[in-house]
Amino acid sequence: MSEQGGVADIRTEVVVLGAGPGGYTAAFRAADLGKKVVMIERYASLGGVCLNVGCIPSKALLHTAEVINEVAELGHMGVRYTQPKIDLEKMRAGKDKVVGRLTGGLAGLAKQRKVKVVTGVGRFADPRHLEVQTADGVVHVEFEHCIIACGSSAVQIPGFPNDDPRLIDSTDALDLADVPKKMLIVGGGIIGLEMATVYATLGSEIDIVELQDGLIPGCDRDLVKPLQKRLKGQVNSVMLKTKVADIKAQKTGLKVAFEGDNAPEPKLYDRVLVAVGRSPNGKQINAEAAGVHVDERGFITTDAKMCTNVPHIYAIGDVVGNPMLAHKATHEAKVAAEVIAGQPALFEPMAIPNVAYTDPEVAWMGLTETEAKAQGTEIETGVFPWAASGRALGIGRDEGLTKLIFDAKSKRILGAGIVGRNAGELIGETVLALEMGADAEDIGLTIHPHPTLNETICFAAEMAEGSITDLLPPKRR
Ligand code: NAD
Repeated sequence: MSEQGGVADIRTEVVVLGAGPGGYTAAFRAADLGKKVVMIERYASLGGVCLNVGCIPSKALLHTAEVINEVAELGHMGVRYTQPKIDLEKMRAGKDKVVGRLTGGLAGLAKQRKVKVVTGVGRFADPRHLEVQTADGVVHVEFEHCIIACGSSAVQIPGFPNDDPRLIDSTDALDLADVPKKMLIVGGGIIGLEMATVYATLGSEIDIVELQDGLIPGCDRDLVKPLQKRLKGQVNSVMLKTKVADIKAQKTGLKVAFEGDNAPEPKLYDRVLVAVGRSPNGKQINAEAAGVHVDERGFITTDAKMCTNVPHIYAIGDVVGNPMLAHKATHEAKVAAEVIAGQPALFEPMAIPNVAYTDPEVAWMGLTETEAKAQGTEIETGVFPWAASGRALGIGRDEGLTKLIFDAKSKRILGAGIVGRNAGELIGETVLALEMGADAEDIGLTIHPHPTLNETICFAAEMAEGSITDLLPPKRR
């Protein structure tokens, strides 16, 4: 197929560039609102990083790790298992099956909605055309509206032997080719720690090196502490305020030299996983041909309608800015599709939750205590330690903490943080509370089921109110 005499191969009302959580959500919503939609995706499988090589496969592996650890810890209840036997091939197949079900489901949903999928690499030719390099040649797509959802890529560190197969990123790590004996994880952020949890459980000796003075920068320290404590028992070392000065590829492994406060002597690793963040793919789509402004780092700026500087071109997801999270992208996607369909939509969330699916999980949303201090915002906190939660004790995981952050005057919730089992499931309630303008009394008076981890949110509000009875109220201590 090719363009002849200026005639496009495909004409459509809406074209979506990228089929990750942002892209497919935008395409499906636009189709449901009556638009003719084409979705361009470079890979044969829909779903982007999240479904194929990110959130979903990592959670399948993290669940496996969690069960292995949980079973091993049942000794205190008088139940002992023998050491687990790990069949890596089956584990990989199990994970791939989960991914396959979801991506296959997406292909079915696209078909049912009559969203045409073009498989190939898309780039702008001009403000009304995209050219897609497919396996069968170039396909020209003419559009009325475009939604850019081209995502982000793992950051590589220049000077590292990036072509060496033993230097891996999160995609390679999720491939689960083998269980390396000694593995270094560069970056103590969400990806680094999730992968540390998986590989440490499978038997790798893990070292983590982190530039900053704490793991998961951006999250309050009291929430990270229980995770850091537990990690100590799982990994060989966590080197904070330290960086990798050099990596040399040797026959027997990757020789890593360190620099900084906790730098050890150079060490040999079988594998080095680099997880130091992601960078937007804005520079890969020839956006200038359409007149779309892309900043130096590769981000595309939009307004609250998700519209770029070109009125008929929209952008969503990782490429428009941090946080690079699937649930941010899907909400932006709906806004873009709805605005194109003539609806009065805006992307104006009061909070976007963050979750590290580590063991224990760490989740937070809205204002953090650290940010409040830096900004001089007057807050009150309600903190409930899980050591006083019957449910947490019952499952043998009392290291958790639920913290609610309230405006000191209005007592309205401004933020929340939870560390502990299932924190990622629990944080949703606090986001709803914030969006609905709830205050400490509203949360404390809401009857939560007992005994649950969920009631720790109610107890944290009661701590702020001084009405707690499961502990001494803070002011009486
Ligand atoms: P991140 O930004 O969360 O963490 C990167 C870490 O690497 C930071 O702690 C940073 O200080 C450290 N770092 C940077 N350069 C370094 C260096 N040279 N040496 C040592 N440490 C260094 O990035 P990530 O973990 O790679 O994740 C990428 C993106 O994907 C993030 O936006 C994250 O939110 C998202 N993500 C989210 C989830 C989730 O929601 N559960 C899971 C995976 C990824």
